[in-house]
Amino acid sequence: MSDITIIGLGLMGSALARTIHQAGYNITVWNRSPEKMQAFIDDGIAAAADVIPAIEASPHILVCIDNYDATRSLLDTEKVRPLLRDRTLVQLSTGTPREALDAAEWMKKHGVSYLDGAILAGPDDIGTASGQILLCGDETAYSATAKMLECLGEDVRYLGTNYRAASALDLAWLCDSYGRFMAVIHAARLCESEDVGVDQFASLFEEESLVRRYANVVHSGDFQNCTATLQVWGSALNRIQMQGRDSGIDTAFPDFVDGLFKKAIDAGFGDEHVMSLVKVLRKAAG
Ligand code: NAP
Repeated sequence: MSDITIIGLGLMGSALARTIHQAGYNITVWNRSPEKMQAFIDDGIAAAADVIPAIEASPHILVCIDNYDATRSLLDTEKVRPLLRDRTLVQLSTGTPREALDAAEWMKKHGVSYLDGAILAGPDDIGTASGQILLCGDETAYSATAKMLECLGEDVRYLGTNYRAASALDLAWLCDSYGRFMAVIHAARLCESEDVGVDQFASLFEEESLVRRYANVVHSGDFQNCTATLQVWGSALNRIQMQGRDSGIDTAFPDFVDGLFKKAIDAGFGDEHVMSLVKVLRKAAG
C-alpha cells in the first residue's frame, strides 16, 4: 500500500505529488487524462488505472482538481463511496466556505475523515519557504496527515475544526491578486497610451515584487508560460463571487473583474498567462 494517493496532476497537483514523493513517501497518482501520469510512471511512481484502484491504493487521499463539483462527481458513485469509509481525504482544490461545509457533511455521512484545505501559493512555491497551505476540519485527519503534509511548505497551518476557515481565508487572500491584476493591466495601458515602456513601469518596483513580474510579462508579450492559467484564476474568482452571493455581501468588485475574465476566456486566452487580460483592454481600445 502507498502512504498517500494524489488525485489530480495538473500544474498544482503535480507539484504536490512531486514534493511528497521527494520527501520520501510512497505515493500513488491518478489523473483523468492518463498522459499526465507518464512522467511519474517514468520515475517509477505507481499510477492507478482508474479512480477506484487509486483510492484502494492508500489510507490517505489528497485531491487537487478544478473544483468541488468535479471532486464530488469522482467520489459520489456506487463503487467509490464504500471504499472511502475509514480513509482520510484532504481536499486542496479551490472552493468556497459553503462548498467546504457541504463536502464535510458528505464525507461525514460516508465515514471519511476529512480535512479541507487551500493553497496560498503557486506550484513553484510548493516545498519551499514560500509554500503556504491552510488546513481545517477533522482533528483526527489532521493528526494522521500532518507529518506528510508539512513538506509542502514552510507555513502549513491547521486552523481548527471550523470547516469554513481555510477557504474563507484563501478567497480573502486571493482578492489581493485580482486587485493587482487590474492595477497592472490598467497601468500598462496607461503607459502604452503615452508611449512609455511598460518595462519602465516595471522597473519602479522592487526586483522580486509581483507587480514588476506581471508588468514584465505584459512588456515581453509572451503570455504562453504560466504556473496557473487564466482559466484557473477565473474559476477561483467565480468562487469569490459565489461566497459573496452565499453570504449576502456586496460583489461589485469580483463582478467587475469577472467581466474582463469572461471576455478574455471568450477570446481564447483561457490557457494563457493571466496577464493576457491586457489584450482585452487593447482590443476594447481598438
Ligand atoms: P490545472 O493545471 O488546470 O489542472 C486541473 C486538474 O483538474 C487536472 O488534473 C484535471 O484533469 C483535473 N480535473 C478537472 N476536472 C476534472 C474532473 N471532472 N474529474 C477529474 N479530474 C478533473 O489546474 P491546477 O493549477 O493544477 O489547479 C488545481 C486546483 O488547485 C484548482 O482548484 C486551483 O484553483 C488550485 N490552485 C492552483 C494554484 C496554481 O497556482 N496553479 C494555486 C492555488 C490553488 P485533466 O488533466 O484530465 O484535465
